[in-house]
Formats: sequence, C-alpha cells, structure tokens
Amino acid sequence: MNKYINQMLQIQDMTLALSVNNVIRKNKDTKETVEKLETSIQQMKESLPSEINDALSRIETNYELFVVPMVNDCCTGCFIKLPVGIANNIKSPSECLFCPNCHRYLYHDEKPFARPDNNMHYKGIARFSSINLMFPELKSNKHKDVIKEIGNLIADTGFVKSSDEFSKALLKREALSSTAVGSGIAFPHARDIQACGLTLAVALAPEGIDFGDGEIVKVLFVSAVPIQTSVFYMELVAKIARYFSKEVNVNKLLDCKTQEEMWKIIVKIGK
Ligand SMILES: [Zn+2]
Repeated sequence: MNKYINQMLQIQDMTLALSVNNVIRKNKDTKETVEKLETSIQQMKESLPSEINDALSRIETNYELFVVPMVNDCCTGCFIKLPVGIANNIKSPSECLFCPNCHRYLYHDEKPFARPDNNMHYKGIARFSSINLMFPELKSNKHKDVIKEIGNLIADTGFVKSSDEFSKALLKREALSSTAVGSGIAFPHARDIQACGLTLAVALAPEGIDFGDGEIVKVLFVSAVPIQTSVFYMELVAKIARYFSKEVNVNKLLDCKTQEEMWKIIVKIGK
C-alpha cells in the first residue's frame, strides 16, 4: 500500500475513534484520551505532503471517510465504476490517487468474501452477528489474553479471514486507548481487516477482566470493521450502548449460559 494512503488510513481510524468516544463516553471524563488522539491526528496530518493535507481538509468537510477501498474497480465512497487506467494505477503502491467523482482517496482492496452462514434475514444489530458469534464464557482472565482468545474464536467461525491479523489489529486498537466504556462493558474492534462485512461478536467474562484504569469488564462487544462499514459501526455501538445503559439488561446477558440464550437477547436489540 502507498505510504501516504496508509498514513491517511491511520488518521481516519483515529478520527473515527474520537467520534466513537464522543458517542459513548459523553458523561465520562475522557479529556486525556481525547487530547491524546487529537494531538496524534494533528501530528500525522502535518507530516503528510502539504498538497495531500490540503486535499484532506477539503474532503473532510464533506465526508466522514476520506480514504475508501476500491472494490471490483468501483469507488466504495460514491460507487462509480472507475476508468480502467485509474483503477490499474490505484493497484500500484507508488500511486496516491483519488476518485475523479467524489475526490476521496482510494486504495485497492481484495474482494470481500461471503458469510459462512445465511442468516441475513435478521434486523437490528443481529444482522451483523450470528449465534456462532456468541461466546458465553471466555477462558482467559487477562486483558491481552482475552483479546487474543476472542480474535481466535471469531476467526474460527470464518467471519474474519486471519486470526493473527485480527488479533494484532484488536491489540493495536487497545494500545491506542482502552475500549472499556464503564458499566462493565467494552467495545474492542479492529478496522481495515479482511472480514465478510461488519461483524459483531459478544463474549462474556462473568468474573471480570481488568482493562486498566480501574475498569473491570464483563461483557465484550467485539467487532471487525472493514473500512467501508465504519458508519454502520457507529450506529451499532450507539444502539448497543443505549440498550445496555440499563444495568438490568447487562445482568440479563451475564446470566446467559448458552449461545442460544445470548442470541435471544441480541436479536431483540435495535430492531
Ligand atoms: Zn468516489
């Protein structure tokens, strides 16, 4: 991948992390996290060539995502078919090119793959999940081990391509700032990885896992977020956060002992 495109993806990821923070942590003191993210975003922007930085500022005023993948020679920002010459150049890592229609920067993405099941008839948040992605009891009890365990569990279901890539990306995101949001809930997630669309897994750790800064997490909503699904991810997080802001709902989930019991709760959320 072109190095500037890669840098822009990182900026985009941090910018989205900042907005997720604003959605779900409104009432918490997150000044430090926010400032850390803002400083990193600013520094990375300044290290881009000035013409790219200027272009970014223009695109940012119109769209939430300023770098999107090209899939099947189409821009996934505005969905136009790109001229053959441009599409071929985007596949070359030496080029840093944008869509001639919407001006979002583009990178080449391999074809998304099909879900390993066919339960696409669900509405609400269940549409991004599956009964096979319900994990009633995690074995690990340390923050990093739990993240690795769940990365492997999800990859085993076939919803993401590589467990190694997925676990690494989840850990990288945790290192940026903890995804615990209080009330015993965390939203570990990895962006820009090979997955069959936005994928949500739910894992329970009734004993509680120390996520640092005094946050003990018992329920993990773990997501694979391919970059073109980022906007859906924000909605997903908002719906989950709203439902589980009631302690009684968190406890109902924590009482589940089987995948079936968990799935019954998840299919009712956000319909
Ligand atoms: Zn476009």
